[in-house]
Amino acid sequence: MYHSIEKMPRSTIMRSLHVPPKRFKFQMWILYKLGYKGLSLKELKPYLDGKKIGKVVGITFDDGYKNNLLNAAPILSKFNFSATCYIVGDRIGETNSWDLSHGITQRPLMTLNEIKKWLELGMDIGAHTNTHANLTKLTKPQLVQEIYQCKKKLENFFDVTITDFCYPFGQFHEDSVKVVSESGYLTATTMNRGRVNFDSDQLTLPRIPITHHTLPHLFMLKLLSKYEDKR
Ligand SMILES: [Zn+2]
Repeated sequence: MYHSIEKMPRSTIMRSLHVPPKRFKFQMWILYKLGYKGLSLKELKPYLDGKKIGKVVGITFDDGYKNNLLNAAPILSKFNFSATCYIVGDRIGETNSWDLSHGITQRPLMTLNEIKKWLELGMDIGAHTNTHANLTKLTKPQLVQEIYQCKKKLENFFDVTITDFCYPFGQFHEDSVKVVSESGYLTATTMNRGRVNFDSDQLTLPRIPITHHTLPHLFMLKLLSKYEDKR
């Protein structure tokens, strides 16, 4: 689980969400050297289902930052990896305004054309609701609006099938998972920590957070040991 791939000034709040491009490149190189292939959730699905076997890692970016296209995509392409970027339907070309009340720095999100470029590079997108809402606070009609309508909107904009969802703030409950299922999504990711296995519920998949603080030895621990699974 990545967010922003960018070098940040010292003063920034929540700078841990920003992984410098150099570090990201090194992490992708480690995966490559260890024989792993980085995949979008769509490409990961057959592995989750046990239909394909191999050394694979799902790579996700939350929110749709412009720096994902500028800084991460060239590195992913270099290693022939793909990734899923979760787009906030009503915030395309804007900023992460949902973070304003927390004092988190505003970063530009990809525009329509930039998301098209992301797709042309062989990367994929998933849905992250229309407004980056905390789904556990919504009524059923609001859940349908945020979860189902976001899928429809992205499919209309980009002429792709949206099969993958990500819960904003990692917040989900029984009702939201139900609407995700009814909307036709095949996978959904949370901020619950751990590595995925065949028993994992595909609509509440755990992830491994990679932050500013994830130095190479910690990256290896997260990837190869039970480090994340125990949390
Ligand atoms: Zn988010």
